[in-house]
Amino acid sequence: MKDCLFCKIVNKEIPADIVYEDDIVIVFKDIHPQKPVHWLIIPKSHITSLNEIDALTPDVTHRLLSTIAKLAKEHGFSDNGYRVIINTNAHGGQVVDHLHIHILAGEPVGAMVQP
Ligand code: AMP
Ligand code: ZN
Repeated sequence: MKDCLFCKIVNKEIPADIVYEDDIVIVFKDIHPQKPVHWLIIPKSHITSLNEIDALTPDVTHRLLSTIAKLAKEHGFSDNGYRVIINTNAHGGQVVDHLHIHILAGEPVGAMVQP
C-alpha cells in the first residue's frame, strides 16, 4: 500500500527498531513507548484494521499470535505477563491504518478501565 506508514517499515523505506521479522510478520518497537516493552506486531501484507481480518489467511493470523507468545517467552516476560491491544477505527483510537497489535510488558499495565 503506497502511502501506508507501516508498509514503508515493511519495505525498509523508513527505519524502525526491528525486534523480529520473518516472511509473514514484523515486530518493531513503538516510537512512543508507554511501557518498558512496547512493541507492535503487524502482518507484512496490508490490511487496514481488524475489520478486514478475513482477508488474511489462517496461517497469517496464527503467526501473529504465536509470534507474540514466542517472543514473550524468549524475552522473559511471559510469566510476569503482558497485554495485547488492537485499536480499531475512531472509537478504538486507531491512528495508523495498517492492522497492528500492541504488545505491552515490563511492568504492571494497570486496570483496563480507570476508576
Ligand atoms: P494506534 O493508535 O493503535 O493506531 O497506534 C499507532 C502506534 O504507532 C502509536 O503507538 C505510535 O506511537 C506508533 N508509531 C507511529 N509511527 C511509528 C513509527 N514510525 N515507528 C514505530 N511506531 C510508530
Ligand atoms: Zn500498510
